[in-house]
Amino acid sequence: MIDIKAIAERDRSSVLHPFTQLKKYATGNSGDPTIVTGGQGIRIQDAEGRSYIDAFAGLYCVNIGYGRTEVAEAIARQAYKLAYYHTYAAHTTEELARLSDRLVRMAPGKPSKVFFGLSGSDANETQAKLVWYYNNLRGQPKKKKIISRDRGYHGCSVVSGSMTGMSFYHDHMDLPFPGIVHTGAPHHYWGAEPGETEEAFSRRRAAELEELILREEPDTVGAFIAEPVLGTGGITPPPTDYWREIQAVLRRYDVLLIADEVICGFGRTGADFGSTLYEIEPDLVTVAKGLTSGYVPLSAAIVGEKVYAVMEEAADRVGAFSHGYTYSGHPIAAAAANAVLDIVERERLSDRARTVGSHFQNRLKERFAQLEIVGEVRGVGLLGAIEFVADRQTKRRFDPKLKVGARISKAARDRGLIARAMPHGDILGFAPPLVVSEAEIDEIVELAHGATKQVL
Ligand code: PLP
Repeated sequence: MIDIKAIAERDRSSVLHPFTQLKKYATGNSGDPTIVTGGQGIRIQDAEGRSYIDAFAGLYCVNIGYGRTEVAEAIARQAYKLAYYHTYAAHTTEELARLSDRLVRMAPGKPSKVFFGLSGSDANETQAKLVWYYNNLRGQPKKKKIISRDRGYHGCSVVSGSMTGMSFYHDHMDLPFPGIVHTGAPHHYWGAEPGETEEAFSRRRAAELEELILREEPDTVGAFIAEPVLGTGGITPPPTDYWREIQAVLRRYDVLLIADEVICGFGRTGADFGSTLYEIEPDLVTVAKGLTSGYVPLSAAIVGEKVYAVMEEAADRVGAFSHGYTYSGHPIAAAAANAVLDIVERERLSDRARTVGSHFQNRLKERFAQLEIVGEVRGVGLLGAIEFVADRQTKRRFDPKLKVGARISKAARDRGLIARAMPHGDILGFAPPLVVSEAEIDEIVELAHGATKQVL
């Protein structure tokens, strides 16, 4: 038996937890930590013996589900054989070369090379440096600004945190970093004028992007970064025509497109990548989360042919590509990713996310769309969200002090369901492991419905 009290005390006195109200936690006012002790399939267990359906796959990452021994064995095999060697100056391992080759074959756009990191944040940091490097090397040293979207989420480090378009990630942290500019969110429900169609709204967002590029001056704008489906900012699939309109503007001004596939990649939307689903042709692609299903940390910045060609061409002049981490291409992480992608392919998890995902979207709509306090039910594949409002006619929001989203999420947790209160508005978010069954989807939707009825 583990000593729950001792773990809680040790944790409280020493761990600086992300996204946690420090004083409430330190003084015990927000209760004890949840000590997570195990996971199997779509469920996790805590130290008090409670079991929860994890309908958020950790943080949208455990796509293959918990407890897959095949991945644990691949990790152990690599650790026994060679736990670590670096990849500087052309060192490699069999697992890394295999992984990199398969990513180049499967990634969207015209992938050429893969740079490995450890998190979505550092991969997006790398993408920013690649944009700057590329434009320096091709003699466009002013073309450095990066445009991202309001409500986009790209990480928490200095540049990726600045790309993130929610002010509470910037406050008191001296972000955003100069040279990162934001444009409007692709959120039809909140952003459209009365009666404006999705198509017209998409055209307006593209026109606003063009105005921004012109205002900033096109020869200073290097890249646009976006998630194919807006994730942490509200789980919002793009409105019709959005990506077509946006890409036309980017091409007109020679602005690189970075597709942040950290959530969408490897099947989440029902296609291999969000870019595949929405016909996005990115120059640079960021992946993390689903790449290893969270079993070990790994991310990648996938570099397209256009950018890479300039880098290679300039190499005799500028010398080595001077960027890399001790753990870039870590062999254990590469072995884990290969084992995870073997499962994703063998079990056809993208197809599964499409079919089970369609059942999920239907069930969510059936159970929630008619409720008076529901403004919108939305999603794609195995990503879904319910947005709660005080008045669905006027779209008046609930008073934030009521913490409606957080209370529903808490009520769900008390019933054994983890569904996330999204950080922006009263939104309950879902991203279950892609191995979830239709019967489990029904259970998830019923538990969420019961929790909602309990609170409102
Ligand atoms: N990009 C997207 C779209 C994300 O959702 C996240 C994390 O949720 C990140 C980047 C940052 O990844 P990480 O938390 O691994 O740094």
